[in-house]
Amino acid sequence: MSVVFKGGYVLGHGIADLLIENGIIQAIGDDLPGKRAINASGKLLVPGFVDTHRHMAQAPLRGFGPDMTLGYYMQQVVQHVGASMSVLDVRNSLKLAAAEAMNAGVTTVLDWSSVSDPEQVDAAIEVLHQTGLRVVFGHSNPDDMHPQADAVASLGPDYLPVDDVARHIGLARDRGLITSMHVGGQQGGGVRKLHDAGLLGPDLHFVHGNRLEDDEFKMLVDYGSTLTVTPVTELMMGHGDLAYRRFAEAGGEPALGVDVESGNLPDMFSEMRAGLMAERATGPLAARDLLQAATINGAKAIGLGDAIGSLEVGKQADIVLLSGLEHLFGEDPEVLEGAVATSVGTEDVHTVLIDGTVVKLDGVLVDHDLRELRELTLRIARRTLAAAG
Ligand SMILES: [Zn+2]
Repeated sequence: MSVVFKGGYVLGHGIADLLIENGIIQAIGDDLPGKRAINASGKLLVPGFVDTHRHMAQAPLRGFGPDMTLGYYMQQVVQHVGASMSVLDVRNSLKLAAAEAMNAGVTTVLDWSSVSDPEQVDAAIEVLHQTGLRVVFGHSNPDDMHPQADAVASLGPDYLPVDDVARHIGLARDRGLITSMHVGGQQGGGVRKLHDAGLLGPDLHFVHGNRLEDDEFKMLVDYGSTLTVTPVTELMMGHGDLAYRRFAEAGGEPALGVDVESGNLPDMFSEMRAGLMAERATGPLAARDLLQAATINGAKAIGLGDAIGSLEVGKQADIVLLSGLEHLFGEDPEVLEGAVATSVGTEDVHTVLIDGTVVKLDGVLVDHDLRELRELTLRIARRTLAAAG
């Protein structure tokens, strides 16, 4: 099956056609043929957004803690989310999360899984593979790894003894998987502990980093370890200043994540804007850098840099068509790219393809009904919130 986008503005290429065959970007150029043509005139084609840190099962709880701190969240909420969910709850919650992501043009999510019971994990992996979203499933009970898990999700050195983190990393390395862990949201020193234990490497993906020391950013860069910043959650919950600029200045390529929906929205537009605003408050930063963070940096951060994250021939066709920026097509490309970070939102996500398959067309999700999914998950939210007090 071939699909061709006709006459859109292809990020990095200008006005062109973009041809997809068997889920792969086959060509970008003029007058390309294809079985199914999608009129992209007046639309901007960007790579699908890559959210490298989300706790997907918490999707029904959107807005549950607009005034919540990280400490309260860790003590009161985390334990209740997975524990109080039936297998059916898990399925519906993850369907909602995946539908919300795709609706917002997010084509890949690293799910730092909030469920760890084996039956829940089976259901989670099964349902996530059916949603159409590209999911990297991070298993948060690595001692009982599911054969189809894509990553190890470890609580990390701020919350566990280094020996436990080392065991998690070892389990991931045995399977050739990355390990994704929180660090530096409440205190510094976590990266140094892993460095001193000889554990750092390019297969380690860290999240937050706010309170890391300057030399810890250098350690990450020296060993090729990656970092995701979750701007809205971190700023709302008081993790401290974002690590974005410090990691970038040390030579790193920061990625972005939604994290939890306690006080934010399930899209990357909010994250790009919040990240930009927080760093602009104290110095210059190009808006287009945030678009890079939300696409190619994210792909690289979770080991998918060769497959997704940019519109290039040979890459998987994860593509978003954006409305609302046609008046900028003749301007400097940096302005156009920057405007994606500052001036569009989920309502401008016109069409979304993942792996060459259309999952949203002309503003409407193809296989999912968001309103129905929100109704299905209403009881889960009420019950979980009651349990968490
Ligand atoms: Zn998190």
